[in-house]
Formats: sequence, structure tokens, C-alpha cells
Amino acid sequence: MSGKILLGCIADDFTGATDLANNLVRAGMRVVQAIGVPAKPLAAEVDAVVVALKSRTIAPAEAVAQSLEALRWLQAQGARQIYFKYCSTFDSTPAGNIGPVTEALMEALGCDFTIATPAFPDNKRTVFKGYLFAGEVLLNESGMQNHPLTPMTDPNLVRVLQAQTRHRVGLIDHAVVARGAQAVRERIAQLRSEGIGIAIVDAVSNDDLLRLGPALADMPLVTAGSGVAIGLPGNFGIAPSFAAGVLPPAGGLQAVVSGSCSLATNRQVLSFIQAGRPALAIDPLRIAAGVDVAAEALAWAAPLLADGPVLVYSTAEAGAVKSVQGRLGVEEAGAMVERTIAEIARGLVAQGVRQLVVAGGETSGACVQALGIAQLQIGAQIDPGVPWCHAPAEAAGGAGLHIALKSGNFGTDDFFFKAFTVLE
Ligand code: ADP
Repeated sequence: MSGKILLGCIADDFTGATDLANNLVRAGMRVVQAIGVPAKPLAAEVDAVVVALKSRTIAPAEAVAQSLEALRWLQAQGARQIYFKYCSTFDSTPAGNIGPVTEALMEALGCDFTIATPAFPDNKRTVFKGYLFAGEVLLNESGMQNHPLTPMTDPNLVRVLQAQTRHRVGLIDHAVVARGAQAVRERIAQLRSEGIGIAIVDAVSNDDLLRLGPALADMPLVTAGSGVAIGLPGNFGIAPSFAAGVLPPAGGLQAVVSGSCSLATNRQVLSFIQAGRPALAIDPLRIAAGVDVAAEALAWAAPLLADGPVLVYSTAEAGAVKSVQGRLGVEEAGAMVERTIAEIARGLVAQGVRQLVVAGGETSGACVQALGIAQLQIGAQIDPGVPWCHAPAEAAGGAGLHIALKSGNFGTDDFFFKAFTVLE
């Protein structure tokens, strides 16, 4: 068993965990991301661990149980502070799970007060007077009001969170945060004396988050999006450093698999093709017809890999996706494509690929699972929210694997070749 960790994090979804880990690494922490609660003690020497759960939209009782299991494991690794990470658009239903999980963690940690803020100014999520903005508009005008699983129809986070918890919810507003950490500490003392258990915190810039950080030093539990993470490593005497993101040297062949149909990914696929790189589209209808599309793709890739990165993609524009979904069903189409891409990822690694970019949140989950990856060490950022990661030797047939998991709308147009340059 290795040294004790400083910060123990619990993330309610997979790419959100990577996003948090990325911010911690940029602030100087050495970070490992665990896929689910590990069965064993941590093997690596790191400052923080992010346990990635998939608990955002499951039943509240189940989300609580998984989060408490993660808490116990993190405590056993020595974590001095716990960070519950949720989405920067505060994705939740009236039943939870942000409120119930926060409550359960507070109780388990014996603390009567914590903060809650999804603010992430780098990605244009800001909180002002308790109201969450996504870009230029309030949350409930951002498209999130139509989300299929977690429609967000009220931008006032004090009200949203109050509906999910027995604790009284209050606000640490912008005027207080602007005056600095001491003013925040005084406001916290005042709120506690009034019986407030959780306070939404305003933040409209990274400066706000950096001012907030020191005021959270003694808090056993912090709950937030990934933004607050930029201000916490300093509390442990850690400063940004290049060394935090150093991964083992990369080698082997290079490939990209993409099951994301987001706008940014469509541009990235096009840009890769226009650069003259080999790319193969896979057709969901042929998968549905029983063709072994994965075997075809692997046979196509085999002779090309020696000459540089190849791309296998199901990425398509909205109209084409709708038409496939109309014929196969939304979930069936998604699951079928995810399975096929995961099988292709596994086959590519068997062919010697050791640098793999995966595009798509759900697609990433499927690939990481198929590759048998349990832990990822987090390295340098390729683009905001997307770092290179390294899976230890047990994955990828004993050789280790560099892998980047890109959620839908992240990354510049040249992401699919830029990623490999960053790794050099
Ligand atoms: P993103 O991060 O862009 O949302 P995801 O991987 O999370 O990407 O989600 C994309 C979903 O769409 C996956 O379930 C994937 O299997 C599915 N999908 C990918 N390509 C197609 C396609 N051509 N037709 C229908 N569904 C697709």
C-alpha cells in the first residue's frame, strides 16, 4: 500500500470525473481516476483519486449507497477532504441525486455544513445571486430545460437544491466572494448560526473560485462541478507543476474511434478526413443486419496502422442519426453502435495500438469497460476538459495504454491529430 491521498473525489458520471481530474492535475495534483469503487487499495503514489460512478440518474437510494461505498474506500486511502462532483449544469431531478448524496456524505462525515456550486467559468457556467447561467443565458433557456433525463426548468439553485434536501439551503453571494476568503468564512459562520446546512456559492470567474478555495480548507466535504477544484490544491501546499501530469512514455500504434454525433465531433471527423488520413465509417444498419462490422473494420485497419493514426467512426449528422434511430429505436441503435466500437477498440489494441482516442461520453464508457480498464492516471490536457490518460499494464494485454476520452462537444476541429502531437 502506498502513501495517503489528500483529496478524495466522488464523481456522478464518467467524463465528468475526467474533467475534474484534469482540473486537479492542472493545479498541480497527481491524480488517478478509478472506474467505479476499486476492490483493492490504491497502488500508485498520488495526491487525489477521483472515483467515477454512474449515479447521476439512478434511484436516489442506489446513488447514496454507491457514494457511501466510494467514501469508505477514499477514507481508507487517507483522504483528508472529500469532493462530490456533479455536472456544471447541476443535472438532477426533483428527487435528486445531488441533494440526497450530499446529505448522506455530510452525515457520514459528521459535518453540518457544506457548499454547492456548479460554477465552471472556463466552460461558461457561472452562478450569480444563486442563478446558474450557461453561456449568455439562464440555465432554463439553455436547452437544458429539454434534457430527456434531467430537465432543468428553474435556474435558481437555492430553490432547486432545497427541493432535494432536508437541510436548509442558503447563499454566499457574489458581493461576499468578491471580498475574499475571510469574508466567505464570516458568511459561513453566520449561515451556520442561522441553521443553514448547504450554501450555493456565486462565482463568475476563475478569480472567484481562487478566492473561494482558502475558505474551504477545513471543510470535510465540498460539493461542486469541476471548477472549484482549481482553488483546492493550494490548501495542501501544492502549486501548479508540469510534473503532476507526466505519464509513462508513449509508444505503439495510434488510432481514433468515434461514436459521438455531437457537432464538434462531426467537425473533427471531417477535418481528419480532409487532412488525408485513413478513415472508415461504420453503418449501424449493417450492424443491425448481422454483418460483422467490427471484424471488417479491424481487417481494414491492420495494413494502415504502421503509417500513422487511423479513424473508425459511426459519427453522423443529426438527420442520419434520427433516421437510424427511427428504424432501430434510440436505445437499441445506441447500444449496438457502442458495443461494436468497443469491440473495435479492443481489436485495435490487440493489433498493437497503444495510443487511443475515444470520442463520445457513452462510447468512452463502453470502450473503457471492454478494455478492462479499472484505473487511469491523468496526464496533460489536450483541450479543456480532455487530458491524456494512462491505463496501467493489466489493461491492453500487459503493455499499458495511453487513452484520451473526449466527450461530445469538447475539443478543437483538429483534435484527432493534435492529440497525438501533444503526446510526443
Ligand atoms: P456524446 O459525448 O457526443 O454525447 P456519446 O457516445 O455519449 O457521445 O453518445 C452518442 C450515442 O449515439 C451513443 O450511444 C452511440 O452509440 C450512438 N450513435 C453513434 N453513432 C450513431 C449513429 N450513426 N446512429 C445512431 N446512433 C449512433
